[in-house]
Amino acid sequence: MQENLLIGFIVIWVALVLGSVMLFQRGKDVVRKRKLWPIYTVFSNVIIGAFIVYMQPPTMWMIAILVLLVPLTLLTIRSTKFCDSCGQASRSPFFMKPPQVCSHCNKPLS
Ligand SMILES: [Zn+2]
Repeated sequence: MQENLLIGFIVIWVALVLGSVMLFQRGKDVVRKRKLWPIYTVFSNVIIGAFIVYMQPPTMWMIAILVLLVPLTLLTIRSTKFCDSCGQASRSPFFMKPPQVCSHCNKPLS
């Protein structure tokens, strides 16, 4: 049962990574990407949170990590911008301010 759950997590994780590539690396539908990005980010961090709970670390660790996941999720959403010109995602490290220009075509980002 426990091992099945672990395999389940790995399957979900691979699906999330593939989904991310399909949804955000391909295509030029910037409106759709912007709409789906927060949903995707929240969902994937919920999966990470669930995995941490499953690993059953010491309670203090678990609470600390889960509390940290919340601002991390918000910052991940904020630090990714989608370019109006080429539709590509530009990211900055989560602790820095959002990118100002597209990392693909150098056009300013809104
Ligand atoms: Zn661009």
